[in-house]
Amino acid sequence: MNMKKRILSSAYIGLHLTGSLLAQTDKHPNVIYVFPDQFRNHAMQFWNMDGFKEHVNFRADPVHTPNLNQMATESVVLTSAHSNCPVSSPHRGTLLTGMYPHNSGVSLNCNQTRPISSLRQDVTTISDVYSQNGYQCAYIGKYHADHPTPNNPQNPGTYVSSQTPVWDAYTPLAKRHGFDYWYSYGTFDKHKSPHYWDTEGKRHEIREWSPKHEADKVIEYLKETRDQDKPFFLVWSVNPPHSPYRSLKDCMEEDYNLYKDIPLNELLVRPNINPKLKDKQECAPYYFASVTGVDREFGRVLETLKELGLDENTIVVFTSDHGETMASHVLDPKNSPYTESMNVPFLIRYPKVLKPRVTPLLLSSPDIMPTLLSLSGLKKDIPETVQGHDLSGFLKGTDLKEGSPAGVLYIRNVDGDKDKDGIVTSYFPVARGIKTDRYTLAITIDRKKQVKSILFFDDVNDPYQMNNLQADKHKKEFNELCLQMGKLLKDAGDPWYTEKILSDILSY
Ligand code: CA
Repeated sequence: MNMKKRILSSAYIGLHLTGSLLAQTDKHPNVIYVFPDQFRNHAMQFWNMDGFKEHVNFRADPVHTPNLNQMATESVVLTSAHSNCPVSSPHRGTLLTGMYPHNSGVSLNCNQTRPISSLRQDVTTISDVYSQNGYQCAYIGKYHADHPTPNNPQNPGTYVSSQTPVWDAYTPLAKRHGFDYWYSYGTFDKHKSPHYWDTEGKRHEIREWSPKHEADKVIEYLKETRDQDKPFFLVWSVNPPHSPYRSLKDCMEEDYNLYKDIPLNELLVRPNINPKLKDKQECAPYYFASVTGVDREFGRVLETLKELGLDENTIVVFTSDHGETMASHVLDPKNSPYTESMNVPFLIRYPKVLKPRVTPLLLSSPDIMPTLLSLSGLKKDIPETVQGHDLSGFLKGTDLKEGSPAGVLYIRNVDGDKDKDGIVTSYFPVARGIKTDRYTLAITIDRKKQVKSILFFDDVNDPYQMNNLQADKHKKEFNELCLQMGKLLKDAGDPWYTEKILSDILSY
């Protein structure tokens, strides 16, 4: 529909719809959920600005994020949103189902060798609920929640990639959980030559930076593709600032130019930078360039919402699947309990209902589905299988003392048993932990399920987690955290609880 027709048609709807139908539209807002991959909370410029810096005890990265800065002034901004299992597929499984990885089906990062890790088809996901309630559901970008199978729509009986093991995947219609518009792929990391399968399964090869191309698709969806008379739930999963971040093949030159002449020690301002990780440190200008580029493309989508008059009645969320250590502590960018890995952005804007402010609400991955459904007027439709909590009341302003989460789980699984062909037949729950408003505690076990190592930080007095506390010197705090963690594991039905792992310490 062209612009003129659309304006005429909205005027017509405005004049002729009954009050009850209009109320219905108000009750069910549109939702845009945007989550770039590996975007840490610290990589947002506004955390260094008045009105925001008073709420955190870290220095933000020296990044340019003008659109996020603006959106932050219009949003409820969480200082303490956490990805429980800070790695791609498990977080995505939890986001979609509201269930922890041991229940969602997605216990490990999805690839060909791990048939045990794939989003369950028999559960009701967030998109199923929206779809069943008359929403149009669109998925654009990286999905990475399905086990790759030889289901290449362009060449039936083969995989979509010749790389072994296969990581990328095609998600057929039967596995799309209510998403009726599809422009997506499994996982693929060439940021300037991405590909996508559309709703009908046609493959599109693109020669453009993926966030730019995807923003165009989101804008096209908003302006032309969708049915203008129905609310929509649109998920946009941007791959950058995910690695690779090593050259101009990975980001836009205009963004790189902002950082290229800044010495590394001025770019990497966190005092926990590991001096041994020289190679990784050199990625910083490219990582921050990717952050800035994603901010710009996201800004174009926000501008479109405004232009279409949709910004008031649309919930916009900006977050990530996990963070990025970027040479802090360890080489692995994710997977660890360090704040750079677990703490993610979480900005939620809904002008009609949410008053902009900053809150230390401890929200984690399984809470997202019930919270969004509740804000969308669909509280009664939250499936019983959901393990997270509806935190919408706290976003609206309920005092956090009225029962907000006191701690969130940290979860790490690795490959367990393998068959003779190297196919993973079980996963091993190698680490569990808890993050509270004061502490981070994570316990890693060996294959005999005994304590292998402990990370224990006072995040208030040691925000960069440089001093690993000794459990025996902080017995009271350690025991209290173990008690809380045991309770969370029990409530979640986590394998540590069902197998009574470290029951002498965790007293389930
Ligand atoms: Ca990821």
